[in-house]
Amino acid sequence: MPRYEQAYLDVWRRATLNSPQVRTACVATKRSMIQSRRLQFAYGAGQRLVFPDVAVAQGSVLLLSGPSGSGKSTWLALLAALVQPQQGSLTVAGQDLGTLARRSADAWRARQIGFLPQKLHLSAALTVQHNLEVAFWAAGMPVDAQRVQQVLAQLGVADLAQRLPSQLSGGQAQRVALARAVLMQPRLILADEPTASLDDAAAQDAVQLLVQAAVQHGATLVIATHDARVAQALASCMEEPPILLHLAPALPPKGSGTAQGSAWA
Ligand code: ADP
Ligand code: MG
Repeated sequence: MPRYEQAYLDVWRRATLNSPQVRTACVATKRSMIQSRRLQFAYGAGQRLVFPDVAVAQGSVLLLSGPSGSGKSTWLALLAALVQPQQGSLTVAGQDLGTLARRSADAWRARQIGFLPQKLHLSAALTVQHNLEVAFWAAGMPVDAQRVQQVLAQLGVADLAQRLPSQLSGGQAQRVALARAVLMQPRLILADEPTASLDDAAAQDAVQLLVQAAVQHGATLVIATHDARVAQALASCMEEPPILLHLAPALPPKGSGTAQGSAWA
């Protein structure tokens, strides 16, 4: 077992595993949510990102780690059909993303994926309510204002509906972005460095909210991070350890002739 995984499991053993609120995020279902084989991607002539094969069941939690530049955000972008696999295969929620037409990708993403990006991307000119309503437009569905209010209430920020993003604290903006991510009851929630700019208490809160949202919706949750606090926070709110996926540093571009060792060499 790589040292990295061992370190995470050690965190687990030390942590309290008996959270009364969230029992486990591993919903008892055998349905596959993410399956990849020999997946590779490169931006132009840049470094090759070679991703490990995975098979992730619906309802699981996956912790995606790896050094900066190893391809964590790119893996999420592949899962969300923001970019297309260049080599290998990737199936998400039963959809082969290698064959998903670009014109269909936006609607597919809007319905299947709840994306919590590293930068929250709330529109500055729109209220919280309207920021969330935009998600219905993206999915080609009629706006459901009541659903917006319901999700904001679930995340404890119903009273912020008429505020502008500039009137929110960092933690409040994070809750609003999470509300937007789960609004369409996605089957897969992707969070990119969700604790990056948060203090310890807010980081713990953000991870707990993500797990709660995933459990509530029966969704699979993927958290990309290089923040060790995330594993600690997950350990305090889940009974089962998450699936651990560690990305090694990127390989040099094809033909560059530079040797590259494994991350654990
Ligand atoms: P991580 O999230 O693990 O830090 P990224 O997926 O952001 O890694 O990046 C992986 C590699 O791809 C890095 O070398 C990065 O510089 C490069 N990269 C990421 N996005 C782009 C892009 N839009 N254009 C060109 N190169 C990119
Ligand atoms: Mg990243």
